[in-house]
Amino acid sequence: MVTQVATKGKTLTERGEVPHPRERFSAVETRFPAYAVPFGDPRLAATARRNRSVWAAIDLSEYDPDDSGVFKTKSEVRKLVKSNRTRIAELQELMFAEGKHAMLIVLQAMDAGGKDGTIRHVMGGFNPQGCHVVGFGVPTKQELAHDFLWRIHPHTPPRGYVSIFNRSHYEDVLVVRVKELVPKKVWQARYDHINNFERLLADSGVTILKFYLHISKDEQKKRFERRLQRPDKHWKFDPADLKTRTRWDDYMRAFEDVFSKCNHPWAPWYIVPANRKWYRNLVVSTIIVEAMERMDMHYPPALEGLEGIVIE
Ligand code: AMP
Ligand code: MG
Repeated sequence: MVTQVATKGKTLTERGEVPHPRERFSAVETRFPAYAVPFGDPRLAATARRNRSVWAAIDLSEYDPDDSGVFKTKSEVRKLVKSNRTRIAELQELMFAEGKHAMLIVLQAMDAGGKDGTIRHVMGGFNPQGCHVVGFGVPTKQELAHDFLWRIHPHTPPRGYVSIFNRSHYEDVLVVRVKELVPKKVWQARYDHINNFERLLADSGVTILKFYLHISKDEQKKRFERRLQRPDKHWKFDPADLKTRTRWDDYMRAFEDVFSKCNHPWAPWYIVPANRKWYRNLVVSTIIVEAMERMDMHYPPALEGLEGIVIE
């Protein structure tokens, strides 16, 4: 269970409470609260603009991208990730059959942060039939002529379905802010628009999970270098990403504002340590499983008289 307890800092291992391997799964769960962005002080909320945004200052430098909880190697988590994927598939089928809930997963990260890899390794557990993956790139001329949520809304999931956003409406307060693509007044108003939009979705049965895959600037360097070294990764190398990299600190500030202003119990942010891909996959998959378990779903009642049916 994910509870809002501040356990940031020490791992169970550091506290000398090394868990038995069989207990490791729940041990990792108790570490997750550290990744859930705190919802902020209710007293601050009272003075927050129009009472809608709960402002709690987030300092990303307090979150360690190298963290891997109680685990040291990939082989330790392989089975856990696999069982999460299996559980995700079961729960998705139940979600589809029940037709009451929908789920929206938002992935944001710096370039080479692992959004594609997370979709491949974790979301690979979803049945493609009930799942819609959509990437948001530079808006078209037509999209720019509309409000910034116009291109987003059609991709939100209907009941029974899952949508995965590879980048999202948050780009409109991240890259747009850092590159000054619109005046400050315009992007500043967007936090409220985003909060209202997500509230609308949540009120309509959508469970929203937002993941920031947190890599270090060093790790990004390594991943860019790997892309340059491997011919099969060249297609991923975008020289424009190097320009973005020079604004690293500005992006961190922009992300921190997102976590402070657009984090709510009905649309929480998770800051996932993502330098180690295997741990990232474990964290993301476990949070998804837990969120789906909490939906408390049930198969619809069977038609009456099924037991009497004989198939000729
Ligand atoms: P990729 O994820 O590698 O396909 O790159 C997509 C690019 O589109 C990134 O450089 C994003 O910053 C950019 N992008 C996404 N949304 C927006 C937006 N609303 N305004 C400007 N650029 C965007
Ligand atoms: Mg790219």
